[in-house]
Amino acid sequence: MHKNNISVVVPLFNEEESLTELCDWISRVMQTHGFTYEVILVDDGSTDSSWEIVNTLSQNNNNIKGIKFNRNYGKSAALNTGFKKANGEVVITMDADLQDSPDEIPALYKKIKEEGYDMVSGWKKKRHDPISKTIPSKFFNFVTRKISGIKLHDFNCGLKAYKEQVVKNIKVYGEMHRYIPVIAKWNGFTKIGEQVVNHHERKYGTTKFGLERFINGFLDLLSITFVSRFQRKPMHFFGLLGSLSFFGGFAITCWVVGLKIYNLHYKLPARDVVDQPLFFLALVALVIGVQLFLTGFLAEMLAMKSNSSKDYLVSEQIGLD
Ligand code: UDP
Ligand code: MG
Repeated sequence: MHKNNISVVVPLFNEEESLTELCDWISRVMQTHGFTYEVILVDDGSTDSSWEIVNTLSQNNNNIKGIKFNRNYGKSAALNTGFKKANGEVVITMDADLQDSPDEIPALYKKIKEEGYDMVSGWKKKRHDPISKTIPSKFFNFVTRKISGIKLHDFNCGLKAYKEQVVKNIKVYGEMHRYIPVIAKWNGFTKIGEQVVNHHERKYGTTKFGLERFINGFLDLLSITFVSRFQRKPMHFFGLLGSLSFFGGFAITCWVVGLKIYNLHYKLPARDVVDQPLFFLALVALVIGVQLFLTGFLAEMLAMKSNSSKDYLVSEQIGLD
């Protein structure tokens, strides 16, 4: 199949006012620089006339393609589906709301093709967003930087460029679009760069994410940290905690029982075992220990089943097919 230089993947949810302007702009940039390209508009279950506009646009320009979800699944799902369909050597993602500028595309392309980056993330150095968004975003970027060890200022910028191999091999699920660089790094795509990009105010419509973005973003950050460390070896987490708890409980039990026997033996006053706080502590620790251990065991069996060899990404091989 003929490969394009660039695939532009655009997730969109109720963005009817922006689409025509965006596509015209992208086409203009592509023609000026002589790129072969496709634009994949992923309609994430819009309820306005977005899909009709996608239809019209693709009739007038056969580089423009569309996919429509049956309902709103979220930006991550839209990106993931677009990634699967893309056929460009370089894949660019951008938001549909004209906050990201297509003029950045040639420089991003060059970084991937000529400087050998696996992915390049835009950095909205000068942001045109309300302060309620920019301050929490600073915090998220800081924490994500610390946890992942990736030196990016702006993880969640909609404008990013990828090598084809990267998008074909990562899964963006749930609301993980905020952490795509982290997912790429897990999969061994470690050459991650950034480029300062122009950012504009939203011209039409309103933001599609409310305050829950911060709560969900935080929970996703927890799970991404956790999963990245223990996905393939859950027992190292649950087993350790479970054992600690169990043996702690066991030690206390020995102490409580030993003390009782000792006191009885020497005819000292002895409290009932069930009359001591330590007894209850031991009980709880033993039960929790066993539960953690069993959880780890189940997780380990799941991991064993799903760690089939197709999960390991092979980048090259010699003398095999
Ligand atoms: N979007 C989407 N599905 C959703 C929410 C958003 O495809 O459920 C798209 C939206 O149409 C836009 C991009 O994701 O193209 C970024 O959304 P938005 O501009 O609302 O986010 P913000 O700029 O406020 O972070
Ligand atoms: Mg936006």
